Amino acid sequence: MASHIVGYPRMGPKRELKFALESFWDKKSSAEDLEKVAADLRAAIWKQMASAGIKYIPSNTFAYYDQVLNTTAMLGAVPPRYGWTGGEIGFDTYFSMGRGNASVPAMEMTKWFDTNYHFIVPELGPDMKFTYASHKAVNEYKEAKALGVDTVPVLVGPVTYLLLSKPANGVDPSFDLLTLLPKVIAVYKEVVEDLKAAGASWIQFDEPTLVLDLEPHKLHAFTAAYSDLASTLSGLNVLVETYFADIPADAYKTLTSLPGVTAFGVDLVRGGKTLDLIKGGFPSGKYLFAGVVDGRNIWANDLTASLIILNGLEDVVGKDKLVVSTSCSLLHTAVDLVNETKLDNEIKSWLAFAAQKVVEVNALANALAGQKDEAFFSSNSAALASRKSSPRVTNEGVQKAAAALKGCDHRRATNVSTRLDAQQKKLNLPVLPTTTIGSFPQTPELRRVRREYKATKISEEEYVTAIKEEIRKVVELQEQLDIDVLVHGEPERNDMVEYFGEQLSGFAFTVNGWVQSYGSRCVKPPIIYGDVSRPKQMTVFWSSTAQSMTKRPMKGMLTGPVTILNWSFVRNDQPRSETCYQIALAIKDEVEDLEKAGITVIQIDEAALREGLPLRKAAQAQYLDWAVHSFRITNVGVQDTTQIHTHMCYSHFNDIIHSIIDMDADVITIENSRSDEKLLRVFRDGVKYGAGIGPGVYDIHSPRIPPTEEIADRMNKMLAVLETNILWVNPDCGLKTRKYTEVNPALTNMVAATKLIRNQL
Ligand code: GLN
Ligand code: ZN
Repeated sequence: MASHIVGYPRMGPKRELKFALESFWDKKSSAEDLEKVAADLRAAIWKQMASAGIKYIPSNTFAYYDQVLNTTAMLGAVPPRYGWTGGEIGFDTYFSMGRGNASVPAMEMTKWFDTNYHFIVPELGPDMKFTYASHKAVNEYKEAKALGVDTVPVLVGPVTYLLLSKPANGVDPSFDLLTLLPKVIAVYKEVVEDLKAAGASWIQFDEPTLVLDLEPHKLHAFTAAYSDLASTLSGLNVLVETYFADIPADAYKTLTSLPGVTAFGVDLVRGGKTLDLIKGGFPSGKYLFAGVVDGRNIWANDLTASLIILNGLEDVVGKDKLVVSTSCSLLHTAVDLVNETKLDNEIKSWLAFAAQKVVEVNALANALAGQKDEAFFSSNSAALASRKSSPRVTNEGVQKAAAALKGCDHRRATNVSTRLDAQQKKLNLPVLPTTTIGSFPQTPELRRVRREYKATKISEEEYVTAIKEEIRKVVELQEQLDIDVLVHGEPERNDMVEYFGEQLSGFAFTVNGWVQSYGSRCVKPPIIYGDVSRPKQMTVFWSSTAQSMTKRPMKGMLTGPVTILNWSFVRNDQPRSETCYQIALAIKDEVEDLEKAGITVIQIDEAALREGLPLRKAAQAQYLDWAVHSFRITNVGVQDTTQIHTHMCYSHFNDIIHSIIDMDADVITIENSRSDEKLLRVFRDGVKYGAGIGPGVYDIHSPRIPPTEEIADRMNKMLAVLETNILWVNPDCGLKTRKYTEVNPALTNMVAATKLIRNQL
């Protein structure tokens, strides 16, 4: 019985690649230095998998920036603006595409399916010339071979590559990218020949787009692509790997009929229904790579349960054709538990990061082959049992309260227009009220204060004094700028989820549990291991301190339950919805305490609501239903006169606009400045939106100062489709990554533009 790993994290157990990349980019080290760090990481990973006993070890899953960008390089599909003139693509062209250079901006980056990983979107058109311009796949295959490890080279599949591409600027937006398939396949053929010549006997194509609800002509493209490739692939074992969701029935049929393909990889963690499809029929003589070990979470596998699934599959696909695998690349989980020095042993025994998952996959394969490591299995069962019964996991009160919410609806008693009237009587705001999203610049001094407090180098008193001072500065600045609804600036927060996670029960934090987000950027999600509750107030002290410094309304600032959920590693022993309801109840307590403390405007950020949307359409309505319900739970208990804001940082929400309306917030502020037209189209199309709305009037991701006229122009465009009395004026998002030298003039112009328009009304 064999074992396989779909892909492995690249950053290294202590983010070695991140530091090597950043030092190279800062010109503090050479290309050779960077290459050395990368080669050492790859070697360590291959050896680790080999010594664990993994049979099918992946190569070419390493990337200096991103695997889709690697494919763009492999195909020589470099947009002309980067001035590449041919030859093997080197660091210059590669990193210019990924992160831009002094004269040319980067290519667009977008989310990799429903993960927090971002890839570089290929820009293609009918004139793109594809040539074999990066030999990375074969080079890495040879590199591993020289170390004594025969690997399975992994390529992003040709159809997935094209389906994730976009028409380049200047190309007709309706251009059918799939017409490029024959040209792209021509390069893939060269790559495959190269790999064969180097001695590869297996090859893996990642085609995760197969789990999306694809139209028939897109499914047909897979058949066309692999038919075209079939003769080149002959003599090789070919694995087509899918992941992240159930495979739709028609896609399963397409997949299992692909010519030249000998093995299919499926995600059995997120794709339970795929199991039924397999049991309903699997092509004889082909391999099934069964992804039973979760690549997207940090929990130890339930080995006994996995073994039962695998045993069932053996009867369907045959003993010698079943391969134990991970549900997807381990890129989306943390790297190695051995570096967790601060987690206690009990919690640690419940976890498995990438390095531990490799061992689990192998243990399952051995067990299937009749060589069960009894000691390993029994310590796994013991850990699972301790997790189930640990008093740290279960809080009966919380369980009961959350269970009582199910099946009920929670809505504020009066409708939004009645509430807005009541709020306006109390707040007495001018038309087109101005506000900001929450954070103000996080200066190096501020970061130092937080760091020193955490390391107990300064006392609590010193810390509180310093933060209060910072709040006072931010309040005074906003009064000078004449902003209407103020914020305290969030100086006490490092991160909008971590800040709350650290104060809630049921959360644990890692020291090195980093996951790549994009390029060299990593995030360290908290781990939700138990029932969530709020032992004490979390923000009331800071918000009421800030309110005491001004007569203007001060917004209380909270992170919403759905965002906390989507940006954490979530427990897998109960539905996500249940965990979300628990967080909602904790945030509800905080909302009500803020109201009691005299805070009349409360913002509950749901920055990540859209990103939790399931990939399969069939699952989306249910998600939106409990996510939006959780948000409403947080503020159902406040009076009409308390104004609830929410904020979202993305612009692709046209498809979920009705759910956003259903959140029933009094005011929503949204990122918009990079996509005016899209947002306005929703309202032009006649969607009724009665609540307050603040589409961001300038982009905070750029240091550029937006001119007053430009902001005024934007506002005029919005006023053409929105009622004057619902429009708010604010930047796109929080200001924490900007400098005061940018924020001061930008906000000055924002207020000036607002006054200009007010005078014209
Ligand atoms: N209130 C947060 C801030 O301003 C919101 C951040 C976000 O939406 N990502 O920083
Ligand atoms: Zn935002």
